[in-house]
Amino acid sequence: MQATMTYSSRALATAIAGLGLALSSGCATSPGDRAGNQVDKIAAPISTGATADAIYVGGEIVTINDAQPIVEALAIKDGRILAVGTRADVEKAHLGASSKLVDLGGATLLPGFIDGHSHYFNSLLVANQCKLYAPPSGPAKDVDSIIAALKKFAEDRKTPKGDLIVGYGYDDTAMPNGRLLNRDDLDKAFPDNPVRIDHVSMHGAVMNSLALKKYGYSAATETPPGGVIVRKPGTNEPYGLVMETAYLPVLNQSESMTRAQEIEWTKAGQMLYAEAGVTTANEGATHLSQLEAMKRATDAGANVIDVVALPFITDLDKSLEVFPLSTWGKYDKRLKIGGVKITIDGSPQGRTAFFTRPYLTGGPGGEKDWRGELSFPQDTVNQMVAKVYGMGVPLFLHANGDAGIDAFFKAHEFAAAGDLTKDRHVTMIHAQFTRKDQIPTYLKYKIRPSYYTLHSYYFAEAHIKNRGKDQAAYLSPMRDSIDAGLHPTNHTDFVVAPLDQMFMLWSAVNRISRGGEEVGIDQRITPLEGLKSMTLWGAEQYGEEASKGSLEAGKLADLVVLDRNPLKVNAKDIKDIRVVETIKEGKTIYRNGDTR
Ligand SMILES: [Zn+2]
Repeated sequence: MQATMTYSSRALATAIAGLGLALSSGCATSPGDRAGNQVDKIAAPISTGATADAIYVGGEIVTINDAQPIVEALAIKDGRILAVGTRADVEKAHLGASSKLVDLGGATLLPGFIDGHSHYFNSLLVANQCKLYAPPSGPAKDVDSIIAALKKFAEDRKTPKGDLIVGYGYDDTAMPNGRLLNRDDLDKAFPDNPVRIDHVSMHGAVMNSLALKKYGYSAATETPPGGVIVRKPGTNEPYGLVMETAYLPVLNQSESMTRAQEIEWTKAGQMLYAEAGVTTANEGATHLSQLEAMKRATDAGANVIDVVALPFITDLDKSLEVFPLSTWGKYDKRLKIGGVKITIDGSPQGRTAFFTRPYLTGGPGGEKDWRGELSFPQDTVNQMVAKVYGMGVPLFLHANGDAGIDAFFKAHEFAAAGDLTKDRHVTMIHAQFTRKDQIPTYLKYKIRPSYYTLHSYYFAEAHIKNRGKDQAAYLSPMRDSIDAGLHPTNHTDFVVAPLDQMFMLWSAVNRISRGGEEVGIDQRITPLEGLKSMTLWGAEQYGEEASKGSLEAGKLADLVVLDRNPLKVNAKDIKDIRVVETIKEGKTIYRNGDTR
């Protein structure tokens, strides 16, 4: 069983990664030397008396610069910040006849958010799919509400008969009374269209009869090792849900985009980020075909935000043939190849993350004494890490379980032998089940954790069941990491969790589960620390802190306007703060028409 599982989950991880639905990885860069990566846009000197293009006043301006935390006015010119300070000083020095004076009307201005880790490429796809997250992030509170949302989606778009309808974000664990979505529900509502509802894990989907047929599933389809095909009770008929290795036929038949769609969907996908206040997005595990599509859309001028792409290790050689190392580490029309992504283990809720102690619930295939496993053997991980270090580019690696993290430390000790403490711009993506004793090693080896505090909301109950209360309470230990001197980032892992930066901040500050339970409240952080983890420390992660992450003269005018100040509202209300406007290099790319 164990051997089969090893093979199957590896095959699945590889296939998923290959289709851009990858697990995660990232690329990291740290402050200080930025060899191999950086090509930060260094601020051009601006004469002190220059006339501003615009001056923002009339609201709180949160700079994320400890030397000058809140200011009254911010002046911009040519897409950069010209000055920050008191309104009197800034207007006196920079307000001219041509300057626009922007009244924030009591709203709060902050640096644009920097995405610690997400799957940007998937945003192109989901921009054309029906959002079916469970509340509060979406409408899917039960089967009826899923059907209602899908019907409205298809009607709004006038979807023709026969066209595939796709939804995303379906979470079976959030369905009330165990009443799950099935094939019959979808058949009744959509007799003439194939319908596929992707599971929130991105490792499966619920389909109707036409979609099951389209992808080749029938009563005769055997369930492969490591896979799940739910059957209609009393029959061998697939009942809708297909997961893990049984889902590979769907991944392998993913529709490709036309050239026109690449551009159109890029704009739609980037708008999802802009709506969330994100001005720098992460493509957290990029396959060559995706990178090529991103490059074509980039060259066609589709980008409005910056995107950091991280070629996936299994595609690295192929990617280097098309995108030689000399082109890495710098933005070209808002796209940057920022490092390499390696995946080390799986997910804790899927019981594929690698732990030193067994899962309390066994393995996903019923294995006993199951600790999860590495995605690749240790020797292979060692060689992969050595290769990336040899390239001198940032390394982003996905590890969730404490044994996965230990395995990376071993790989580091192999690949960095002789100079273990040099800053190689390494980010550990997720790092969710970091042990307390591993935090000093992050510090020593200069590894930046990028945590995933949204799990305290979405998956706490599953983690308690699988790992026990103590270990679940210590997930994503932001407090201990910051106290130790680390600058962790935080991330949504979109599309696995919704792209909602205020909800992410709320989860880091409150650590409350979906069931209303407190989850390791000793690891709560302050709203300011939470904001740093999504601005300044995010900029550091990509080696871009000279130009991004705080509001200081000379940095890019990447800004977000929020309807309320996260530092001042009740911590419980942070999730209700709305993005009013998003500005990239001085230009408004999103404005919420209702609010201003
Ligand atoms: Zn991810």
